[in-house]
Amino acid sequence: MPDNGVTWIEEELVRLKEAGLYTNIRTIDSPMDAWVTIDGRKLLNFCANNYLGLANHPRLREAAKQAIDRFGIGPGAVRTIAGTMSLHVELEQRLAEFKKAEACITFQSGFTANLATVPALVGRDDFIFSDELNHASIIDACRLSRATVIRYAHADMTDLRRQLEACPPTGRKLIITDGVFSMDGDIAPLDEVVALAEEFGCLTMVDDAHGEGVLGKGGRGIVDHFDLHGRVDVEIGTMSKAFGVVGGLVAGRAVIVEWLRQRGRPFLFSSAMTVPDVAACIEATAMLQESEERVERLWANAAFVKDTMQKLGFDIGHSQTPIVPVMLGEAPLAQQFSRRLFEEGVFAGAIGFPTVPQGKARIRVMNSAAHSKGDLEEGLAAFEKIGRELKIIFD
Ligand SMILES: *Cc1c(COP(=O)(O)O)cnc(C)c1O
Repeated sequence: MPDNGVTWIEEELVRLKEAGLYTNIRTIDSPMDAWVTIDGRKLLNFCANNYLGLANHPRLREAAKQAIDRFGIGPGAVRTIAGTMSLHVELEQRLAEFKKAEACITFQSGFTANLATVPALVGRDDFIFSDELNHASIIDACRLSRATVIRYAHADMTDLRRQLEACPPTGRKLIITDGVFSMDGDIAPLDEVVALAEEFGCLTMVDDAHGEGVLGKGGRGIVDHFDLHGRVDVEIGTMSKAFGVVGGLVAGRAVIVEWLRQRGRPFLFSSAMTVPDVAACIEATAMLQESEERVERLWANAAFVKDTMQKLGFDIGHSQTPIVPVMLGEAPLAQQFSRRLFEEGVFAGAIGFPTVPQGKARIRVMNSAAHSKGDLEEGLAAFEKIGRELKIIFD
């Protein structure tokens, strides 16, 4: 085969495999739930973001089926051209009400919600202050905006203040942070971020992908967690995690939501969520409004997992949320641990560079409200066994 310009890719792929950084994607032959079927075997699922166990919930399945009978499947075209279905409007109204926001607009995903929002708010002559550990979709959104991006040290408000003070007085200013940092499970000091934004006249944007359905009263998110209603200009969320479906949302000031309907590029140039997605998300929101029981179960399960992991001697970092990072160091060790877990019937993938820094590879344990105490005990027993075997924990 002649080298037609892709040899470097083949070489890079070999290098990834040698470094233990090549991602093998498992094929799941069942619904996404507390247990999944892979290669004909039933495995305990410890890696999905399906926090509340809604991805395969009968109520969501039924809502999607009924909506298909009434509205079909696809939205037909972008909403500005072919109109918007009443279903999408209903979801947006419900979400705004749930989150106590002035207004809400939905997108195909959390990723595109970020890509829509940042370039709509700031441009070439403006400044963005971005936490150094912000999600990849925020980083890409900032690049697309062409604003000057000023990174501040992770959750470091002294550094953020210093950078704000050093910034020229011209142009618009936007502070952006993840709400929950997905790899470590820590929560952004949003109250302090908002106070600084108010002091320096900046807009505040928070990406609450891992806080949606998890933090705050009944899963209303990080703004509710800190009781900052009306003080955060714009909040990004996803319905692909706790809501168990797919889709992005932007909630916040009505004027910003209206602006995104005019100028959010993924809204103008990419079709909306499909009918079954929207119907399932409406049902998920309704369930969260009806009861806080699932969110409470999630936190109780997470507390049990964290407590047990710590007693066993694992380093689980400083998570403040249901995310449990089991720190293992080098990527090949994390991959070996994950392979052994798989053999023992537990599905939990290794996470390495570039998702986390070099030398900070880990297995991120994600339990859900769908796991029983027995499920968790079974999974933890596998961690204990392999932890001893690989000499990560000792008696
Ligand atoms: C998962 C995640 C996203 C992407 O959400 P999708 O709906 O899956 O596109 C965006 N931001 C953060 C912080 C996330 O954790």
